[in-house]
Amino acid sequence: MEKDLRDRTLDELEKLVVSLGQKKYLAGYLFKFIHTQHGRDLAALSTLSKAFRAQLVEHGHFISHLKTIDTLTDADGSAKYLFELADRERMETVLLPEEDRRTLCVSTQVGCPMGCVFCATGRIQFRRNLTAGEIVDQVDTVEEHAGRITNLVYMGMGEPLLNYDAVLKSIRILNHSAGKNIGIRHITISTSGIAPAIERLADEEIRPRLAISLSAPTDALRSKLMPVTHKYPLAELLEAVRKYQARTGQRVTFEYVLIDEVNDSVTHARLLVKLLRGLMYNVNLIEHNPFSGCAFTGSSRPRIQRFAATLKDAGVETTIRLRLGQRIKAACGQLQAGYDPRAQSKRE
Ligand code: SAH
Ligand code: SF4
Repeated sequence: MEKDLRDRTLDELEKLVVSLGQKKYLAGYLFKFIHTQHGRDLAALSTLSKAFRAQLVEHGHFISHLKTIDTLTDADGSAKYLFELADRERMETVLLPEEDRRTLCVSTQVGCPMGCVFCATGRIQFRRNLTAGEIVDQVDTVEEHAGRITNLVYMGMGEPLLNYDAVLKSIRILNHSAGKNIGIRHITISTSGIAPAIERLADEEIRPRLAISLSAPTDALRSKLMPVTHKYPLAELLEAVRKYQARTGQRVTFEYVLIDEVNDSVTHARLLVKLLRGLMYNVNLIEHNPFSGCAFTGSSRPRIQRFAATLKDAGVETTIRLRLGQRIKAACGQLQAGYDPRAQSKRE
């Protein structure tokens, strides 16, 4: 959305302002208005002259904004927002308040083309990428409604690294000190494992934390759960992570969705440790969250504990992720934005 002012970094706004024959510093007013004052209507930006505002409008520039269709709040404090985009597509965002931080889980695509069989988003048809402006506005709209966000996770609907440019641009905008100023160490991208994009990320001047959804220790099992494995087998994926670490020195998180009797045995845990040997990492275990039409169930408590203990015994830093927002279908892998699931998975 070329004419959407929310979709531009401060640098890009400066170029635009100069190209319209105005003073460069005025871009800062625009950027602040949009990102720190919930500005949506150019007419309300009184620090810019009327003539300049009229000029912007004349050239077709505007500030996009998401329409909030529905907000659901869980007893545990989490909230799910259903948004409608300008072309009437829909997507969801989840607020996860904890004691010392307020994390927002943002979407990067409408639907997801990756088709992981344990994920509700993977069951709906992929519609399109979100723009940087649409990603940024998820934060702005929720902040306006519910107050300051401290942490961001790119773990909502979609595969962030398949929408690479918009995702990186949204991070540049959200991290900028003249705008929301969300610390780069407080931003995490989660990917199903697009190996070349992981290598590309290593060369960026601005780098968020990286989480990789693994969920199986062998290609045979992983390709049944996550079809991306056919394209980027584990060896290739982990080679990309190795290169990423060699260049950045940054630790990564591996996420592992625990599905009852599918990938949650002690043998699986041991294979995982072996597979990841030599990397700097921690593991985040996520109990599989149910959704209608999915034959899987989350692992039992004892199986989760045993899996976690096996990793810890091997010296792996392991956390079990809290299961927030389950009652409002806002937990990991439950986002469908009201779209109809397509054909059922082969497994059922
Ligand atoms: N597409 C990206 C980010 C969104 S998914 C990715 O796959 O990493 C965010 C996390 O939710 C991933 O770790 C994914 O494995 C996990 N997930 C997907 N479906 C789930 C489910 N039904 N229950 C629990 N976690 C799930
Ligand atoms: Fe897409 Fe992530 Fe869900 Fe897989 S787990 S279908 S990559 S959103």
